[in-house]
Amino acid sequence: MEIRDTVIIGSGCAGLTAAIYAARANLKPLVLQGHEPGGQLSLTTLVENFPGFPEGIQGPELIENMKAQAARFGAEFENAHVHRADLSKRPFVLHLMGGKPPIHTSTLIVASGATARWLGLPNEQALIGHGVSSCATCDGFFFSGKEIVVVGGGDSAMEEALFLTRFASKVTLIHRRDQFRASKIMLDRAQSHPKIHFITGTVVDDVYDVNKHEVTALKLRDVRNGHTQIFPTSALFLGIGHVPNTAIFDGQLASDADGYLIARDYVFTGIPGVYACGDVADRRYRQAITAAGTGCMAAIEVEKFLEKQGR
Ligand code: NAP
Repeated sequence: MEIRDTVIIGSGCAGLTAAIYAARANLKPLVLQGHEPGGQLSLTTLVENFPGFPEGIQGPELIENMKAQAARFGAEFENAHVHRADLSKRPFVLHLMGGKPPIHTSTLIVASGATARWLGLPNEQALIGHGVSSCATCDGFFFSGKEIVVVGGGDSAMEEALFLTRFASKVTLIHRRDQFRASKIMLDRAQSHPKIHFITGTVVDDVYDVNKHEVTALKLRDVRNGHTQIFPTSALFLGIGHVPNTAIFDGQLASDADGYLIARDYVFTGIPGVYACGDVADRRYRQAITAAGTGCMAAIEVEKFLEKQGR
């Protein structure tokens, strides 16, 4: 039975930074790429706040660079998704989807990130891919010349709305409150954009039209007076935050009420040899650079742990 020195679950900014460090420590890390290879950066456009790129860099390009950097030092990548993790004893056992053989590893870096949140509307799931989307970068192009709605009041929603102005004739940003979580610079940009219109104090109650297999309108409700209206649109993009990908660790790793892993001293979980990094354990900063930072820490801790074990 092959026992890996370390396996990294997740191939976003945290996982790939951990891979670079672990690979340079000669640990030949295996990166399990998961359902969303590259993580959230691979779904975004221009990243302007990652140090070292004065003109900014496209998210997917940044991810490709990190991956190539990790591969250069011997990191291995597998398109696999863990559906069950047994952390009760070492080596830890990772069971993969699709009947692939399980993987045994001495240490584990959890960098499984967080996944886009949906609104939970009656017709939402049926219209995903038919006008309902959580990824402007992926789907914006399909709505060239059309009117688009974006839901949310954080940086993601502002970023999506701004990006979609490239294609849409008009973008309406709908937010349930009057105050925004978005940073001032992003909010200012969106508010001053001639194509972006704001509707606040309003929620989406449903999306139509399932029978036509396309989005034609939304049912909106003003939360202040309960008034509803049918709002015609060709697409509904969600920018309402994310849910941490931690279900496979339920009952094994401590998490908070929203499922974010609780890490002590940045990356330590309750199990020796298991470390958490990136958005899966960060509900506060959630930035590419902080994810990279904790990915680095996790890999360094793996190295120290294995050294103590006499490797
Ligand atoms: P967020 O800051 O948590 O904002 C989520 C927004 O969605 C909030 O305005 C929230 O409304 C709204 N929302 C949540 N659930 C909802 C529901 N069921 N119905 C209606 N509205 C709902 O998440 P985020 O925008 O994804 O940002 C996460 C982090 O990433 C932040 O730290 C952000 O700065 C960062 N980020 C940075 C950039 C950038 O710098 N370029 C881009 C994207 C993200 P309430 O306000 O009412 O709760």
